[in-house]
Amino acid sequence: MVIVVIIIGGDGVELCKLSRRSFMKAIAAMGATAFLTTYKSEIVEALSEVKDYWHICWLNGADCGGCTISFAQAADPDLVEILTSITVGNSGLPIALPDYMEIIHPASGTLAEGLKNRWKSGSAGKRIMVVEGSVQNPGFLKIGGKDFREHVKDAAQYADAVIAFGACACYGGIPSGKPNPTRARGVQQFFNEEGINKTVINLPCCPGHPDHLVLTLASVMLGVIPELDAYGRPKVFFGKNMHDELCPYRPYYDRGIFATKPGEEGCRYKLGCKGPIVHTDCPLRKWNNHVSYCVEVGAPCIGCAEPGFPDRFSPFYKEVSALPGVLGADATSIGEGLLAATAAGIAIHAVKHVASGEKREEE
Ligand code: SF4
Ligand code: SF4
Ligand code: SF4
Repeated sequence: MVIVVIIIGGDGVELCKLSRRSFMKAIAAMGATAFLTTYKSEIVEALSEVKDYWHICWLNGADCGGCTISFAQAADPDLVEILTSITVGNSGLPIALPDYMEIIHPASGTLAEGLKNRWKSGSAGKRIMVVEGSVQNPGFLKIGGKDFREHVKDAAQYADAVIAFGACACYGGIPSGKPNPTRARGVQQFFNEEGINKTVINLPCCPGHPDHLVLTLASVMLGVIPELDAYGRPKVFFGKNMHDELCPYRPYYDRGIFATKPGEEGCRYKLGCKGPIVHTDCPLRKWNNHVSYCVEVGAPCIGCAEPGFPDRFSPFYKEVSALPGVLGADATSIGEGLLAATAAGIAIHAVKHVASGEKREEE
């Protein structure tokens, strides 16, 4: 297999043709993280060299459909481009048109189930399973007369890679909010409970970001599983703390200038911004074709990229330091001891910093 890839030479970046082995070496040398972030458009180009067709089955559990809408708003490449012009090798088949995707495919009933069977029994290529929405206790969701849980277990047997797209599929999301009568949970947790030994690539946010999905699909198709953090998220997208490493409003925070109502100048901390305990690339990548993101439009970050969303970050408009889920036992009770400890440290720092009224340069 030959893959088009760019490498950094003395005079900058050049396009080369490398064997798959060399490609993997280049990824290893540079790090998949840096590679994926920097070379998005080249990765799309590289996809045209992929010979295997990857069959995609997109399952919908307890969800609102917003992640599908978000994916439909993918840009550069946009969805039309994905569906029409970016094809796998010479197959003429699009890279990311799922074989089964019940929200958008016109088939229903038996015909739709037939598409799923075709995905499972497809002769050539490999299979990716994308899940949108959480998995509930038995009896709360049936599709084609079969419990959704059975669909997930069945598809998992055939999947070469599993991607959870959106907060619901990753960690339960909004359907898992208290009191969570259906016991909605993420796909990885469901796999663990059922003894399914597969790693799920988690792409949280509510909705999931189309870039995160398109790039992850591209990466998997090119044979590179992104490096994941302790919560199954690719470090390339979720490896940085928004408050400490990315937020353009940080200088306001450091000077103690805080907005007290939406639209006011200043850091959004006192509006309830959870940036100090959130790891996401939203300030860099932004949303709606890279136009803006929550904090930039005057709202606080409410933590949709993190496990435990929404309860752990509620009330949304309270300061981080006032959240029992961050400073108390709630966070650890949902199995997030490590993050909670880190978060508590940050929050305690924030409490001291803000409550004292001291400016950073005076500390
Ligand atoms: S993550 Fe958000 S947008 Fe996506 S399905 Fe769940 S509630 Fe809807
Ligand atoms: S609290 Fe929010 S708005 Fe303020 S600097 Fe941190 S991330 Fe940015
Ligand atoms: S800024 Fe925060 S609330 Fe907004 S999308 Fe990113 S992680 Fe979610």
